Amino acid sequence: MSMQIQFPMDCPKCGKRQEIPIWKSINSSSDPELKQALFQGQINQFRCFKCGYEGHIDIDFIYHDMKRKFLVAYHPFYFLEQEDLLKTFTPNGELISDYDTTPDGKTNSEADDNYFFRPMHFVFSMQELLNYIAFRDTLFEAQNPGLLSDTIKIQRPEPKPKESNPSKKWWQRGK
Ligand SMILES: [Zn+2]
Repeated sequence: MSMQIQFPMDCPKCGKRQEIPIWKSINSSSDPELKQALFQGQINQFRCFKCGYEGHIDIDFIYHDMKRKFLVAYHPFYFLEQEDLLKTFTPNGELISDYDTTPDGKTNSEADDNYFFRPMHFVFSMQELLNYIAFRDTLFEAQNPGLLSDTIKIQRPEPKPKESNPSKKWWQRGK
């Protein structure tokens, strides 16, 4: 199951406070339309009901594909500034898991496939997330041709115009 929460936010343009629906987890197997929405840039979008302002809400969430058996966690890069959150990782960069059971209530030894307990894959940009999902889709399709119909096709990027400010470090771009 996917999980949505209501999050109170002030509109960055007009200041109007409102409850915004935020996806905290997306299950592509039970909610394939959310996978489509993700690839169309429509997940966790802010749209002010008063002034019409629109923008992306940069917030962490989990993508879960039960058919291809993987989980990937998206965190905004500023996540790394938060010491409390860093404490939830081992020195090897793996999450100290607080999962005792799979979503359907199985423990590690009972689970017929324990992918749920493997170290979770983390990404820190939305493009990285889409690339990783496309990679796992492509990998699964190569090993199980024609089994699933919702495979994301890898697309070559359009040729980009020259970087406008090459002196900026890569982690400063896009701000
Ligand atoms: Zn507004």
